[in-house]
Amino acid sequence: MQLYDVAVVGGGVAGLTAAIYAAKAGKQTIVIEKQDRLGGRAMSNKKNGAYFNLGGHALYHGDALASFREFGLSLQGNKPSIDGYAIWNGKLTVLPTGVKSLVATPLLSWKGKVELAAWLAKFGKLDTHRYDQVSLREWIEGNVQDPMVRNIFYALLRTASYVVAPDLQAAGPVLQQLKNALQGVLYLDRGWGAAVDELRKKASDYGVRFITKSKVISIDHHNGIVQQVLCEDGTKVPAKNIILTTSPAIAHQLVPHAEATALHTWKKQAIEITAACLDVALRRLPKPKQQFVYGIDQTVFLSNQSRAAYLSEDGAQVVSVIKYQGKETDPEKDLQALEQTLDLVQPGWQDELVAKQYLPKITVCYDFMHTKRQENPGPAVPEIKGLYVAGEWASHGELLVDAATASAKRAIQHILSHEGTERTPYYEHRDIV
Ligand SMILES: Cc1cc2nc3c(=O)[nH]c(=O)nc-3n(C[C@H](O)[C@H](O)[C@H](O)COP(=O)(O)OP(=O)(O)OC[C@H]3O[C@@H](n4cnc5c(N)ncnc54)[C@H](O)[C@@H]3O)c2cc1C
Repeated sequence: MQLYDVAVVGGGVAGLTAAIYAAKAGKQTIVIEKQDRLGGRAMSNKKNGAYFNLGGHALYHGDALASFREFGLSLQGNKPSIDGYAIWNGKLTVLPTGVKSLVATPLLSWKGKVELAAWLAKFGKLDTHRYDQVSLREWIEGNVQDPMVRNIFYALLRTASYVVAPDLQAAGPVLQQLKNALQGVLYLDRGWGAAVDELRKKASDYGVRFITKSKVISIDHHNGIVQQVLCEDGTKVPAKNIILTTSPAIAHQLVPHAEATALHTWKKQAIEITAACLDVALRRLPKPKQQFVYGIDQTVFLSNQSRAAYLSEDGAQVVSVIKYQGKETDPEKDLQALEQTLDLVQPGWQDELVAKQYLPKITVCYDFMHTKRQENPGPAVPEIKGLYVAGEWASHGELLVDAATASAKRAIQHILSHEGTERTPYYEHRDIV
């Protein structure tokens, strides 16, 4: 059996990124994925000629884009326009995103318009790290005066992060995400699955091996050092370093005696964020001007991704509608809310329907930057030499896919910088709170 330098559990964006960084540095690398294809939550599905992501996806100007560019991915697609609408009191109204829309919108009083204009001018220079320890609500209530400008900030920051927990969410990271968003996001041609295909190809070119349809059931370790990955079908993959890119709960489950490691804290502190997503491909848009809509008094968001990306073979328009879920979710009520949003924005959409995908409750992130976090997860699991975590929940301040790639990069940097250190065992039991 070959001894790998790096074995990666999970073939989503974090796993593929880790594998490319490892193989680029000359490490013998393998990726083990339980599904029959790679991509995890970044995969796309093709239905009746239309490409659907698993819910609307936008690539921000952050760590993921930087890594993808470093790997030489082509990332075809475009920046969508941000001219849009807001839903307030069940009606559509102009969303203030620039000078013209700010003057035109009936949503704000003159005082509110002046305050929002000042924010638009200075937001790009905001030192967001100052607010890393402050909750989002504290930041908004302490810094924004006008009640409607506050509502707009809540809506923009919710959409930038998918999180509906202003009392828990750390303000700094999500403000940074909004800063990244204001530079313009990228919608990808043929969906995020196209980027996954490119990542896979890049990894293969560097010599990464892949095993798919193989569920990992245990990470064997002995005397505080990782030994091998064990799969359900009996496959054993011995490795010097193992990177887990599963959820924190599964990572905990896979590692014997995880309760005596940092994995226990990371699992306990994690707060999962979910969304309900309705994606539709429409032959034509009944209201072609209404392509981008923020719910202000409802936690919904709508975007016609086809306005910036090639997402269908026959010109159908792929529209994503998202309902950000808090603690309480109800698949039928959420679907109703999503369909009502489509009724309002694109009346008669049902008559133009080519294809549809409904995801009643999909995990957007297994954890995020919140004020109850005891520590940022990873990259190393300190009690077991050679064991690492990556994935969007292993964030050190980044959000969503940026956290997936940044945590993967951190894991490989840690492996490379600890190369040659003696593989002596060490256990560092911690008090579990
Ligand atoms: C609706 C929605 C909208 C989103 N929108 C955006 C957006 O606009 N912008 C943005 O930046 N991000 C967005 N994201 C987040 C982004 O998709 C994720 O952050 C990213 O895809 C996570 O990658 P990952 O590798 O960390 O996790 P995953 O993609 O979940 O990969 C983990 C992989 O591990 C595999 N696995 C699990 N257990 C095992 C096991 N026991 N053995 C082997 N394999 C295993 C899984 O099958 C999976 O393939 C969105 C996510 C969702 C769901």
